[in-house]
Formats: sequence, structure tokens, C-alpha cells
Amino acid sequence: MTKQAAALIVAAGRGSRLSEGGGDQPKQYRLLGGLPILSHTVRAFLSHPGISRTLVVIHKDDRALYDEAIAALPHPLRASLLPPVTGGSTRQMSVCAGLAALDAQSPDHVLIHDAARPFIPAAVISRVLEQLEGRKPAVLAAVPVFDTLKRQDARSGGLETVDRSNLWAAQTPQGFAFDAILQAHLQARAAGRSDFTDDTAVGEWAGLTTSLAEGHPDNFKITTQADLIRAEQRIAMTSSSALPPLASLGDVRHGTGYDVHAFEPGDAVILGGVPVPHDKKLKGHSDADVALHALTDAILGAIADGDIGAHFPPSDPKWKGAASDQFLKDAIRRVHALGGQIAHLDVTIICEAPKIGPHRDAIRAKIAEICALPVTRVSVKATTSERLGFTGRKEGIAAMASATVRLPFSDD
Ligand code: MG
Repeated sequence: MTKQAAALIVAAGRGSRLSEGGGDQPKQYRLLGGLPILSHTVRAFLSHPGISRTLVVIHKDDRALYDEAIAALPHPLRASLLPPVTGGSTRQMSVCAGLAALDAQSPDHVLIHDAARPFIPAAVISRVLEQLEGRKPAVLAAVPVFDTLKRQDARSGGLETVDRSNLWAAQTPQGFAFDAILQAHLQARAAGRSDFTDDTAVGEWAGLTTSLAEGHPDNFKITTQADLIRAEQRIAMTSSSALPPLASLGDVRHGTGYDVHAFEPGDAVILGGVPVPHDKKLKGHSDADVALHALTDAILGAIADGDIGAHFPPSDPKWKGAASDQFLKDAIRRVHALGGQIAHLDVTIICEAPKIGPHRDAIRAKIAEICALPVTRVSVKATTSERLGFTGRKEGIAAMASATVRLPFSDD
């Protein structure tokens, strides 16, 4: 009879060096290709034929985030997923809690894996399982160290070269005979040890010999913002078949837009949906929001779907005095209808007056709100034209915009 192997995924950490744009959200729930990192990681184990049960250890505050991450997975896959377990104050304590919960399932083997390693190849899981089947008590997925390593003397600051020929960089999963690692963890806890940073270290402390299984460079741990960017690039290049739809918006499109409106007597101009006090207003059939018109055309350009005039003809009385946010929202609806998303918007407003600077943040926030985008994906800039040309003569305002759109790959 084949042995039963369980997967234990450790997702209880608080640490986030990925603070930029992600608030204080733990990194395992940050989005990667439109899905939480944890969704990708859990999916890899649920999909592997050699894993009969998967259990995730989470932080007590993260239940809603966890539920959301799991809801993103196809329903049939979730059949072998056990209810999550609340972790402890250190990684070691969290693993111990997970092992205690798995004990009821009496698995023969367990693979312990970091939630922040979403690209774990099925072949690496298979190699760890193979060694466990061969009666190795502890198996470490690891990759050889290729960089030359230096050790710095704490006092003198001098460097010495470390012989790298027998060095390995530890990854996860780390696989174990279940009873052996459960006992090792219980002993470590009883001995007051709570500082082991990985599970083979706990096993080695308890006398288990660790064997090596070949890891994979793709199986890197997402720790820094640079790692997250590398992970996004990798997702974008992965074929759409293996990943959920949102993870495959790798077809990146770019569009530009340009618009001009002339001044006429008035008391404010509308720019990016924000009324900016001025001694004139902009003349136009709608509210003449030159910035939103340029942005709308940029988005339509990115999806090669005509222009604002084609969809909202100025000859149609229906658009007289219309608020221009509806034009922009319509362009975004067209992107969504293609299964795509806006990655970034950038608009430059060109005029001598009014001064845009004091209103820039408000305009940026308003555009982000209209488009339902994080404000970090919206840029608003302004410039004069050095008193040259029609904008220089204060006859009107011009705006130019660009839009970056991500679409799913299609057969065209
Ligand atoms: Mg216009």
C-alpha cells in the first residue's frame, strides 16, 4: 500500500518587508497575478497526486484573508483541504500546532512548506516524496550555492572566502516521517526551544539525519519587493492553461490619448472630475473635462476600440453637459469585458493657468476612484508650454494621456 503524505503549509507569519503599496497585509496574502500568493501555494499541493491531505497554519487574525484565498481555487480541488489551524508566536510553534492537528489523520509522511514559495514545481514535491518512500526520515529540498560566499569578521571587518563546494541553500518542502518529526517538535517544545528557523534543524536536534532532494531555482521565497516583482514577471510569462484566468493577463497593451478644449467665460474648469476655480471655464458639449477625455481615448487606444467621439458622438444631445466620468467608466467597462485590467494611467495637463499643483492630489484620487484603481496606479502631471502656442496664449487647456492595459492572451 502506498504511504499517505500530508502537506502542512505555514502561513502564520506577520512579517512583511513588502510594505510598499500593500499596507500592513501579511505577504502571503499579497496579490500575485491577481490571486493571493497563498492561493498559488496551496493549489500546488492540492493538485499533486502524491499528497492526500493539505492543512494550512494561519494567524488568528487572518481567517477572512484565508477564506478569500481558498475561495479563489476551483471547488473540486478543495476536497482534500483540511480546516485551517491557528499558529503560534514563532514559525516553530506554528508548525508544532499544525503537526498536532494532522496527527488525527495519521499520515505516514508530512511535507512542510513555506506559504511564500508559490512556484513549487510538482517535480520537487515528487522528489521529496520519493526519498520518504525510500525510508529516509528527513528530506530537504535544496539548491547548490553558486555565488562565492564571504564571511566578514565581526571585529576587523575583514573578509574570508567560504568554501562553497559542500554548501546548499535550503528550500521547502522539507519532508519527514510523520511520527518522527512530531516527536522531535514535541521534544523541542518541552526543552524550551522555540528558535529553530526550519524543520530539518528541529529534526537534526532530535537526531534525525537529513537527506537532500534537488530543489528548483523557481521555488524562491517571496521576501522583498524585488522578489514580488520577479514573481509577477514569472506569472506573466507562464502559459494561461496552468493558472486561473486573472493570473494570465500577460498580453500588455498601451494606448495614448490627446484632447484640447478652449476657454470661455466662467468661474471654474473641471479637470479629472475635480472643479478647479478659475476665471474661465472650458467650452464643450459635455463638461469639457479635457483630462478625462484624454484618458478615455488612451484606454480605448490600448484595446483598439475606436475613440471617445465614436462611442459618445457630440452630435447626440444626450451628452450635453454630461459629466465625463461616465465616458471613462465606459472605457474601463470595455477593458473588463475583454477580461482585462488597467495596469496604469498617466495624464499630463498642459496650461499656463489655473495652477494644477495645488489640485493634483485631489485629481489623482478622483481618477483612481472613478476607475476603481489603487491611487498608486494613477499618475497626474502638469506643465506649461512656456507661453508658446494656444496654451501659452491661455486660449485653452490640452491634455495628453497614456494607459497600460493587461489582457488575457487570445488566439488572434
Ligand atoms: Mg474633449
